[in-house]
Amino acid sequence: MRADPMTAPQAGAIAVRAPATGELLGEAPDTSAAEVRAAVARARVAQAEWGARPVRERVRRIDPFRAAVARRAGEIADALVRECGKPRAEAIFEPAIVADFASYFGKRAEEILAPRPIPLHLMLHRKSYVHYAPRGVIGIISPWNFPFFIPMADAVMAWLAGNAVVLKPSEVTPLCALLGKRVFDEAGLPPDLFQVVTGRGAAGAALIDAGIDMCVFTGSVATGREVAAACGERLVHCVLELGGKAPAIVCADADLERTARALVWGGFANSGQICASVERVYAVAPVYERLCERVAELTRELRQGDPARGVVDVGSMTWARQIEIVEDRVREAIEAGARALAGGKRRAGLDAGLFWEPTVLADCTQDMDVMRKETFGPVLPLMRVADEEEALRLANDSHLGLIAYVFSRDRHKALRIAERVEAGTVMVNDVVMAAGAPELPWGGVKQSGIGRVHSEEGLRDLCHARHVNVDRIRPFARDPWWYPYSETVSRRILGAARWLFR
Ligand code: NAD
Repeated sequence: MRADPMTAPQAGAIAVRAPATGELLGEAPDTSAAEVRAAVARARVAQAEWGARPVRERVRRIDPFRAAVARRAGEIADALVRECGKPRAEAIFEPAIVADFASYFGKRAEEILAPRPIPLHLMLHRKSYVHYAPRGVIGIISPWNFPFFIPMADAVMAWLAGNAVVLKPSEVTPLCALLGKRVFDEAGLPPDLFQVVTGRGAAGAALIDAGIDMCVFTGSVATGREVAAACGERLVHCVLELGGKAPAIVCADADLERTARALVWGGFANSGQICASVERVYAVAPVYERLCERVAELTRELRQGDPARGVVDVGSMTWARQIEIVEDRVREAIEAGARALAGGKRRAGLDAGLFWEPTVLADCTQDMDVMRKETFGPVLPLMRVADEEEALRLANDSHLGLIAYVFSRDRHKALRIAERVEAGTVMVNDVVMAAGAPELPWGGVKQSGIGRVHSEEGLRDLCHARHVNVDRIRPFARDPWWYPYSETVSRRILGAARWLFR
């Protein structure tokens, strides 16, 4: 397990290929359940010492990691371009966001994790506070769409909260996680505080079974159910960050140029493989045609190609299975009456790679799979609606609720709509970026997940909130409601209750 998979291919290893070219990039071990268990055991030993350090010292020790990520951001971005097929302008965000998380929480962790007094309203002779103790070993299981940002941002928060981390990255993109491990080691941190166990789904299942104290899972709804069941059986606390089907509601008074540009970027960045990607657009009738036209125009201007060979706007998709899902969704939608205003097929001339043309589908209807199921690809379906009420009703007509978007020039109206959308986050006149801001709570409602990561809430959730209750004044030998009971005490309690709650 300790061998560098880039130089030492092993039996059962996972071959990693560049999705844009098919070129072999390296191999990663398929870690056995016994090795995963051993990694968790080592992490537990490292955590005992790490978790005993004050938050301030953890911050000081993590700081060289932040600096190393910032220093090596270009190299990390290049690795992401190769392994994911994403444009460099997007890849560079991943190390930048991780460094931002380390910097933001580095400055605030001590305050966020400081003991919190709880004013007591009746037990005035006592006082209470909650203090935050590390949970222990956090198992992070991550997807392939942001293989550096997602697990490493979660890991930074977990370390600052006093935990050790064992990461099981996606088998589609394990190399970037292993690069993250090398950067961590070079920052002089205890090696067992962060371990990466590459492998397939079985390695993730083994991690949950290996005695972790919490699981932070990001991935599909289907796997999320299995993870929740496995955690439930073992009574392991888990946070689930699952799929999205982000709706965009476009009001008649929206700034159409900004809206069109936001939809195109929000639909096609990372080839649409973002849980926050715009996955369906509901535009009111008076602006529908103009919006479709402008979105199509802007989409046709996008430059697509191998991102490792120059500047492109859209790269390849990352995983062969995903392009098949896209193919099915687009074909079904067109058969059912949708019009492809741009794209609609694999990119000719780039056959070796997983390139799907950025696709705009007009005249979609709510019953189409492209409007109901997560596509996770470069497909932007638009639907005409009569008014904002219909848009809102259709936006909420979904089993998912991760993020949603409202476009309007009238801020008050936009906020009224935003508060009625069933989603963990709603952005007004903007898209996607809330997912990468350390201070914002991130997570879904409905089947998009359970719990929140990032934010103060997410940092505290990586700890046990332990409550301590202590006397404020020197106590008597016995409190009046202790043994022995008497009629007088019962009468007094009854009297007090009647007076207090009259
Ligand atoms: P996935 O569910 O297929 O895999 C996620 C991870 O789970 C991988 O590491 C995989 O090996 C592991 N895994 C598979 N079976 C397992 C099991 N039985 N036990 C434990 N681990 C197991 O998801 P994916 O295809 O890698 O990612 C795409 C999905 O992730 C999309 O649905 C997307 O919306 C979602 N996603 C959500 C967020 C969010 O923040 N909500 C962010 C990114 C991606």
